Amino acid sequence: MRAIQATAPGGADVLELVDLPEPVPAADEVLVRVRRAGVNFIDTYRRSGTYPMPFPHVVGSEGVGTVEALGHEVTHLAVGDRVVWTSSTSGSYAELATVRAKDAVPVPDVLDDDRAAAVILQGLTAHFLTTSTFPVAPGHDVLVHAAAGGVGLLLTQLATARGARVIGTVGSPEKEELAHAAGADDVIRYRELTDLTAQLPVLVRALTHGRGVHAVYDSVGKDTFDASLASLARRGTLVLFGGSSGPVPPVDPQRLNAGGSLFLTRPTLGHHVDDPAELAWRAREIFAAVADGTLDVRIGATYPLADAADAHRALESRATTGKVLLTL
Ligand code: NDP
Repeated sequence: MRAIQATAPGGADVLELVDLPEPVPAADEVLVRVRRAGVNFIDTYRRSGTYPMPFPHVVGSEGVGTVEALGHEVTHLAVGDRVVWTSSTSGSYAELATVRAKDAVPVPDVLDDDRAAAVILQGLTAHFLTTSTFPVAPGHDVLVHAAAGGVGLLLTQLATARGARVIGTVGSPEKEELAHAAGADDVIRYRELTDLTAQLPVLVRALTHGRGVHAVYDSVGKDTFDASLASLARRGTLVLFGGSSGPVPPVDPQRLNAGGSLFLTRPTLGHHVDDPAELAWRAREIFAAVADGTLDVRIGATYPLADAADAHRALESRATTGKVLLTL
C-alpha cells in the first residue's frame, strides 16, 4: 500500500511516499481503507521530533474510511462500516490504517467524507474546550487566537452558539472575513501589531470596557502567551491548548496572582475522548451540529496523498484556513 512516512526527525522534506506491506489489525483494532486523512499540527510536531516518535513512522492521526477487517475482539463494528477516528497513534496518511476499535466512530450518512474527516479531531477539540475546559455561557467574552484556523473556525462557531461574544485574532484580511463569518464580533489582525505583547491586551480591554475577557483560547503559544494572560479579566481562564508559534517557556505561578487570581490550564483532546461514552457523546453533538447547520465546516485545502509535504509546508507557514485534507 502507498503511505507517507517520516523518515527521520526534520522539516517537511523528510516526508516520503513509500510502498509498505498492508498492516494487520491487532485483536482490539480494525483495518480501515482510508478515503481522507486529516492534516493536523500534531502531525508536524511528530514529524519534526518535537513530540518523541519512533522513526520511520507513517504520519497522520485522523481520517475517514471503510472498515475492511476486524480484530477478533471487535464486536461493535462490522466490515463495510464507514468510520472516522482520531487517535494518539499515527498511521492515517496511508491507503490502509489500523485503528483501535474504541477510537473508530461510525459516521452518519448525512456527513460526506470531507466534512466527517474535517470535524473529528478539530471538532472534538472545539467541543471539549467550550463544554468542559472553560464551559462557555451567555455573557462571556472570549478571545480566540488563530480564529480562522482549523480549530479556530469551529471554536468560534461553538462559542458563539453557546452565547459568548468572541473576539478573534487572525493573520490576514482574508482570515478576518472568515472569522467574522464564523461569528466573531471583533477581529484583530495581530500580525500587523508592532508589539503584540503590549498592544493586544490594550485592544482587547478597549473592546471589553476595560475589564478583559473571561477566557482566552490560545493555540499559538510562544508568541501570544504573555498577551493572553494580560488580556484576561480578574479570575479569568487562560486555556493554552497548542503552540503553533512554538512552546511557551516555564511560567512563574506568581504571575497568575499578579494578573488577578487567574487560572491557567493546558488541556489535551486524548484526555477528553478516551472513555468510549464520552467520545460518543462529543461526536454525536458535533455531527448533529454539522447536520443542522449550526457548524459550518470549511475545507480550506485538499492535497493528494503524494503531496503531504506541501500540506505540511502550507500549515506551518500560516497559509491555510479551516481544514486541510489529504485525499486517497
Ligand atoms: P491551524 O489551522 O490553527 O493553523 C495554525 C494557525 O496558527 C496558523 O494558520 C496561524 O493563523 C496561527 N499561527 C500563529 N503563529 C504561527 C506560527 N509561527 N506558525 C504557524 N502558525 C501560526 O491549525 P490547527 O487547527 O490544526 O491547530 C491549531 C493548534 O491547536 C495547534 O497548535 C495544535 O497543536 C493545537 N491543537 C491542540 C489540541 C489539543 O488537544 N490540545 C487538539 C487540536 C489542535 P494566523 O495566520 O491567523 O495567525
